Amino acid sequence: MERAKLTGRVVTPDDAEYEQARINNNLSIPKYPSKIVFCQNTKDVLNALRWVRENNIPFRIRSGRHSYENYSLVNGGLVIDVSDMSKIEINYKEMTARIEAGANLGKVNNKLLKYGMAIPAGTEGSVCLVGLTLGGGIGMLSRPFGLTCDNLIEMEMVRASGHRGSELIKANKEHNSDLFWACCGGGGGNFGIVTSLTFKLHAISNVSIFSVSWAWSDFENAFQAWQEWAPYTDEHLTSQIELKSKEANEVIAQGVFIGPSTRLKELIRPLTTTGSPKVWIKEVPYIKAVRFFDVPAGNLPALRKRSGSFIEETLPAKAISKMKRFLANAPNENASIWHQSLGGAVGRIAPNDSAYFYRNAIIAQEYITTWESMNEERQNIGWIEALRNTLTPFTDGDYVNFPDRFIKDWPITYYGGNLKRLREVKMKYDPFNLFHFPQSIPPFKRWF
Ligand SMILES: Cc1cc2nc3c(=O)[nH]c(=O)nc-3n(C[C@H](O)[C@H](O)[C@H](O)COP(=O)(O)OP(=O)(O)OC[C@H]3O[C@@H](n4cnc5c(N)ncnc54)[C@H](O)[C@@H]3O)c2cc1C
Repeated sequence: MERAKLTGRVVTPDDAEYEQARINNNLSIPKYPSKIVFCQNTKDVLNALRWVRENNIPFRIRSGRHSYENYSLVNGGLVIDVSDMSKIEINYKEMTARIEAGANLGKVNNKLLKYGMAIPAGTEGSVCLVGLTLGGGIGMLSRPFGLTCDNLIEMEMVRASGHRGSELIKANKEHNSDLFWACCGGGGGNFGIVTSLTFKLHAISNVSIFSVSWAWSDFENAFQAWQEWAPYTDEHLTSQIELKSKEANEVIAQGVFIGPSTRLKELIRPLTTTGSPKVWIKEVPYIKAVRFFDVPAGNLPALRKRSGSFIEETLPAKAISKMKRFLANAPNENASIWHQSLGGAVGRIAPNDSAYFYRNAIIAQEYITTWESMNEERQNIGWIEALRNTLTPFTDGDYVNFPDRFIKDWPITYYGGNLKRLREVKMKYDPFNLFHFPQSIPPFKRWF
């Protein structure tokens, strides 16, 4: 057999575009690959996997570059990047779309919304649909339509085959159904290189959006009102609340309701009757809602640390006061604690029906900080880790799409009761553990 060749757009450290091609959304864990191949089609992906196997080169897979811990980058190896593969084919009759793995949410939303259709997905336009889906995918349509992965019908993946080869396989509920199960929440980079995803589409037109914000003095009451209401209100309403640093002096709840603004006004009364909020409500075409939640700061590369957890029972007063204490002593004004309401369609699927385990969670929680210069890193990371440890007694697990390299028992933390089955799937589809990174699913024989 002929030796494998790297095909596609190859960028090396000698090329002027290397720096731009290399950096991810998180600048705080820089890595320097020896080559980056921007695959143009499935053949390039097949070739890249054969090439790394024949040459015994470490590699990582990349799409939208948003891995918190930069697990899509590697020092001295090959990055197999699929972001140039982003075609979207819509089947109007079936209400489905086949989307190449490199399409980001901005592109997907722009295309689908022209036709009044949507996939429930995350909020930042530069996040790729594939990384989002493989870990689950939460966003402003989660409660009515479920997670992004709950709407996945089929995917195509390049996996390792034989001693040194690669092959393209399909996975859906009938065919390679164990792999399909694992890819709905098992996280990116574990089994093979996804090249396309086919989704069920939802018709959507106008929605109503709201914003309710309070000053720091309403901190406890505002959060308490939101957490008692958001996971249980009308399922057509998904919302988030961000607790900002004391310096920023803001607690802000926002959300999307599929329905008229008059009804939304009634629904948000538990928030608008708490403390002294500023309130606005608007009825807008869904594309405007998407743009409203697509905050530019999240899309731009920055020095960052994020981590997260799930909340299965509303937080007691002492946990809320601990959050307040942390935010009063935040490393900078940008530090915050973010929450999104779950329940609704997300909670109607059993924890073992897909690899996404935390179906009983009512809230996803995220700890966020960004900073300006490298010498602030230690303080910012220390703040996130202390915050996470302090809240651990009140929270459950962590979302695999909010990975944190400092979590010691990460396999159970991300996968709970689904870990054993995920390891079995790993053994079947990647028995040599070719697809590995510091927090990849370990096959049984190589367990630690
Ligand atoms: C600013 C920001 C906003 C976010 N907002 C949300 C949100 O609203 N909702 C939410 O649920 N999550 C959100 N996330 C988390 C996001 O879902 C994850 O970071 C996700 O993994 C990003 O995928 P990516 O393709 O953009 O990133 P990448 O860094 O390219 O990839 C992420 C992981 O997937 C693997 N991977 C990439 N491409 C493939 C492929 N083709 N086949 C197999 N594995 C692959 C990578 O190796 C890596 O392990 C956000 C993250 C950031 C930084």
